[in-house]
Amino acid sequence: MDASGVSSNPAIVLDLTSDDESDDNAHLTLHPRVNGVNGVHDLDALDGSEDEENTDDEWDIESLFEDTIEEMGDENLFDGDACTLDEAIAFRHELRTIGPEEFCRRTVEANTISAKKLLTAFGIRAPPFLEGSPDDAYYGLLSLAISRELSKRIKLPKYNTVDDAVELIRKSKNIIVLTGAGISTSLGIPDFRSKDVGLYSKLASLGLPINDPQEVFNIEVFKQDPNIFFSVAKDILPEIDRYTPTHKFIYLLQQRGKLLTNYSQNIDNIEAAAGILPEKLIQCHGSFATASCFKCGAQVPGETIFADIRADRIPRCAKCTASLRAKNHGSMKRKRSQNGQDKKRRRYDGADSSDDDYDLEDKAGIMKPDITFFGEQLPDRFSERLTNHDKGLVDLVIVIGTSLKVAPVSEVIPYLPAHIPQMYISRTPVSHVNFDVDMLGDCDVVVAELCRRLGWELDHEMVPQGQKVEVKLQEGFPSRHLFTAINRE
Ligand SMILES: [Zn+2]
Repeated sequence: MDASGVSSNPAIVLDLTSDDESDDNAHLTLHPRVNGVNGVHDLDALDGSEDEENTDDEWDIESLFEDTIEEMGDENLFDGDACTLDEAIAFRHELRTIGPEEFCRRTVEANTISAKKLLTAFGIRAPPFLEGSPDDAYYGLLSLAISRELSKRIKLPKYNTVDDAVELIRKSKNIIVLTGAGISTSLGIPDFRSKDVGLYSKLASLGLPINDPQEVFNIEVFKQDPNIFFSVAKDILPEIDRYTPTHKFIYLLQQRGKLLTNYSQNIDNIEAAAGILPEKLIQCHGSFATASCFKCGAQVPGETIFADIRADRIPRCAKCTASLRAKNHGSMKRKRSQNGQDKKRRRYDGADSSDDDYDLEDKAGIMKPDITFFGEQLPDRFSERLTNHDKGLVDLVIVIGTSLKVAPVSEVIPYLPAHIPQMYISRTPVSHVNFDVDMLGDCDVVVAELCRRLGWELDHEMVPQGQKVEVKLQEGFPSRHLFTAINRE
């Protein structure tokens, strides 16, 4: 698909001439551009491959700044040089009302506010390396910030309260649920990306021969040395039979005929244990549900290889082994009398004759869980389901336990029609998506309270009997609610 063909969000781009010495002449050059930073402008590219068609400088500059952006949530808009929340909201409104060109003319170009400070109105903190630079050094970042702001969906003003959320769930029939690591952490499954407790920090402390913990899930590294992956795989194997109250909540949506699709970023396959039907579930990064032979492609149920993984053995393909055995049946005896025996003696001194199979297995393909590694194609079902099935049906979006920073799940929201209500359940708010209702806290607690208000029996051993949940509105935010479980003593 042509990357410039779909999105029509006007965006502004950095004028490189503003880098020249004469500060007085520096200004933002604004021109409409298709292909914003948002949006599923290229669903074909959702497989994580490089966006080869965007080789122009604009894209490179944009990517460069994307990497330097430090997002600050609205709750941080009270400190230091930042705009106040009221100012920020006013600037965002003004931008939408008068458009980016006029907006820049009235602000930074008229010197009514510095670009550095204006950035904060769009949730971006100036990066430290620009500290002390002339203000036009911030123009590039500002143009990106404005472009991102304009690409954001506008919150629907009529949904704000928790009861609004409950009512939406009650009346909706085709709900998309987007889930991430946050819905499994209460089972002790590590969140890959959280800095301190996550898997990556654990990997770093194991001293594996890799530079970046992400390499554990890099397909090239796996090809070179599968031991690296398998040395940590047992720590991320799913517990087969357990699931969280949040998984149960998604199951209840399905049971009531309300679940359109659960797009999960999790690879733990706990959705299956909770009873979510395969046809309702897209595991965007693959999962442990199945495993495939790296050599012949034979696929088996994931559990088949769990025993090997737990015992620190590299799982091998039964099909490869069988065909090798059949092929070698005639020649085995001959080989053994030549050098096979000696080699085996050296390696497995004193072992019995069943070692013949061991040698065969060594040549059989390695079984790899069907988790999508970096460098591998994402499952086709994702974009198929989203574009051909869900987009026209969805009537509510519930995002749970994910910061929505990682593709492809991050692409779902911008792709769906903006009038579809969206709600957010997680510990911490996000600033790059405008949800209609934010419900912040432990997601197991939030869903328990939602079920109580819906009159649904959640009935889960991890929800304490008679649990009371306190819901507070966060000051300054009309649609942001903080959920806390109050333990009865
Ligand atoms: Zn095989």
